[in-house]
Amino acid sequence: CGIVGYVGPDEATDFLLEGLRRLEYRGYDSSGVATLHNGDLAVTKTAGRIDQLASALKQHPAPGHIGLGHTRWATHGPANDENAHPHIGGQRVLALVHNGVIENFRVLKQKLTEKGYTFGTSTDTEVIAQLLDYELHRCQEVEDDELRVTDPYHVLVQAMQATLSQLRGTYGLAVVFRDWPNVILAARLGSPLVIGIGDGEHFIASDQSPLVGRADKIVFLADHELAVVTAESIRVVNRDAGDVPHDVKLLEVDE
Ligand code: GLU
Repeated sequence: CGIVGYVGPDEATDFLLEGLRRLEYRGYDSSGVATLHNGDLAVTKTAGRIDQLASALKQHPAPGHIGLGHTRWATHGPANDENAHPHIGGQRVLALVHNGVIENFRVLKQKLTEKGYTFGTSTDTEVIAQLLDYELHRCQEVEDDELRVTDPYHVLVQAMQATLSQLRGTYGLAVVFRDWPNVILAARLGSPLVIGIGDGEHFIASDQSPLVGRADKIVFLADHELAVVTAESIRVVNRDAGDVPHDVKLLEVDE
């Protein structure tokens, strides 16, 4: 239902919690955040109000300068703690948040189960996280060493493209990776996603409301596009092809 993301010099959870609260008006049944810190991926999520998430984070702080947040409106699987986003892929390799519905998730889940994947939730979303882990391993096996030096995120883009091309349905999604602690990948098809440009920091959000007061310039992601976002840079890539130019627009605030 609602997505936020942060990469930059501040504590990620400050923006994530504030952003999720600004998305509350859309309605939700659970919420969660994921942050990266010292090579570790921390996920905190809970059914119920954002206040419950906030108090869980107060008890067990999730430090980190990069992270994702989500408010869920359940479509597949009941609204409980496990089914709340973010969802983990692989051996705590990545965390993913998703808006929308994956129509072919049962087929994909079956295929992944045959390959040895186990699932901890009954959501359609967890299938994306595990499929991305699977494709990431495949892409890493054939990764070109020279390419890795010139573009450390090439393998992530490849794995994301391979994953997205297998999904039927709608998605706005964002992912962080344990072994690439400086980058958020975001993608959309039929579910909106905006990138906010700050001063040495970037924000991700499913609509503009979390960005007001934090970023005055924004980039709208189009359908079939994915974005590679670090604190310093934004790159937009077509799902089925290469890099595409992106327009920077001014955030319009309703008076
Ligand atoms: N289909 C996903 C789920 O049920 C995402 C729902 C949403 O957009 O919040 O978990």
